[in-house]
Amino acid sequence: MLRTGCFVIFLLVNTASAAVPSVKVLIAKSLNSVVVEGMDLKKTVHTLRQSQQYSGRKTISFNCRPGKRRASLPNSLLVASLSSPTGLISWGKNKYQGELQLLADTGANSCDLVNSIPLEAYITTLLSKEMNGTWPVEALKAQAVAARTYAFERLRKSDSAKLYHLESSEKDQVSGTFFDATEKTLRASRETEGEILVGPTGKISPAFFHSKCGGKTLRPDQVWGGVEEGYRSVNCTFCQKTGMKDWQGKIKNKKLVSMVDQVLKKYYSDNISDTEIRIMPDSMANSELRLYAGDRLHIIKKSYLRNLAGREVLPSNNFIMAMKNNEIHVEGQGYGHGVGLCQLGALELAKRGYDYRQILSFYFPRHKIKTAYTP
Ligand SMILES: [Zn+2]
Repeated sequence: MLRTGCFVIFLLVNTASAAVPSVKVLIAKSLNSVVVEGMDLKKTVHTLRQSQQYSGRKTISFNCRPGKRRASLPNSLLVASLSSPTGLISWGKNKYQGELQLLADTGANSCDLVNSIPLEAYITTLLSKEMNGTWPVEALKAQAVAARTYAFERLRKSDSAKLYHLESSEKDQVSGTFFDATEKTLRASRETEGEILVGPTGKISPAFFHSKCGGKTLRPDQVWGGVEEGYRSVNCTFCQKTGMKDWQGKIKNKKLVSMVDQVLKKYYSDNISDTEIRIMPDSMANSELRLYAGDRLHIIKKSYLRNLAGREVLPSNNFIMAMKNNEIHVEGQGYGHGVGLCQLGALELAKRGYDYRQILSFYFPRHKIKTAYTP
């Protein structure tokens, strides 16, 4: 049972009153053509500096293969923006809030599509994709603050020339469409509006999250190498009964030699010194694997092996490896990179009656919540 004494209740620090910012999200890449539809559409063709307003329902098509590339053009440029006074615009079967922007990928003779959307509307659609729009609202609120922080940090870091801030993919965060918002995701956004996580010195934190930690969360430096202030590895037993069961696998000796060689080349400017490898005793507490190739000791991050092997082979970074009968046996727990908020743990905590501030203070014990903007 969790003791409430473990939690430091976050203090809200209201320091800003700026309006809700818009975030530009890359929603599709390498399109041959784009067809959008909406009521009373406004089309601005930036390359021609022309704007046109249509009345009634209108469908507009763009051909993205206009011919040979002109050498003077940049690789990617904003061609056109489309919006509707209704606030909604369709691309294919999907409806989007805000504006759709067409980028020409002049090198590939194709288009990329960007949705410029108020950050709060973005959060309402994202919660159904990155979490589950039917989960308890306090878990969704914790996720809303983490996802908003991630997007807000990217927004702040981008210079004005950047054509988009985030990708709707696992590289950043997966966002949805207008119909992905639910009553609960709308409430989760509204009740945490403008709230983001900051580190102990007040610096905006890149707030990471993952599906299931499997027993303990990891710090960013254990997984990616860069140090982010305030992070701690937290023991989490709350995700144990749900989601992916503890997993096992085998990797052929030869395959591991090849993977280790690639990791050494990519991350350590080194290479394997001998194809005879020997794994040193490993434990779940180690985020690095120690192995001998011949008589040379190599210490490599387990997360780098996962990057190469893929999530089908290594679903999480919490695993142990051992050699048995000339094969590599792997046993692991959890799903995802393991840094920051454990979503299945947050679900369990919300079911036990904890609010989003308590959930966030459990996974981000040294962080604070700050209100970055108000409507
Ligand atoms: Zn967990």
